[in-house]
Amino acid sequence: MDDHASQVDKNKLGLDELVQIALQIGAGIIDVVTISTSDILVEEDLANMCREPRCAFYGLSANCPPYVSGPYELRRIMEICTYALAIKMDAPTGWLMTDERLVIMRLLHEIVADIERAAIERGYTNSKAFAAGSCKEIFCNKQLSCRMLTNNGPCRNPQYARPSIEAYGVNVHELTKTTGWFINPRDSNEANINKVPMAAAIYGLVLIG
Ligand code: SF4
Repeated sequence: MDDHASQVDKNKLGLDELVQIALQIGAGIIDVVTISTSDILVEEDLANMCREPRCAFYGLSANCPPYVSGPYELRRIMEICTYALAIKMDAPTGWLMTDERLVIMRLLHEIVADIERAAIERGYTNSKAFAAGSCKEIFCNKQLSCRMLTNNGPCRNPQYARPSIEAYGVNVHELTKTTGWFINPRDSNEANINKVPMAAAIYGLVLIG
């Protein structure tokens, strides 16, 4: 076995432990799948959708465009990180249409941030977490503005606010196929939908490196 292969195997061993830690952090409300970062599809067009059609939070957070480097930065991180943990959190469809979704999205940000921290503590110091949604809406919705943008000050929620996965152009549809979460439309008939009340999901990603 060459040096690179043995390093990859060593990383994989550490990853198995990290997956168990992630599942403990997620406390039964998330699915975690280890994937190769080479399987993550990153697209400029998807990241550009924050600007056009414009997301309500475009330009309102230091973790959202145009203040993040988006796909360019993510590809750079993917060169350093061989693996990633893909995170899925199910939610009842109705929740995502109401303000209740902020509770779920906040929970997802907290979980991926804790997983990122656990990875860093175990020596994966380049690890980086992303999660669905804008931290301006999730953490600072009662604040007039993002403190990092207006006062050049520290983030109000550095422990948990993480960059928006959408802003970095991650193709979440392809991600769900890679992880095996993809539901074939032919299987989504009415009978199956009625059997599955958790019909919506939000996603996060922790690159490990
Ligand atoms: S201060 Fe608020 S809006 Fe700005 S980066 Fe931190 S959590 Fe996001």
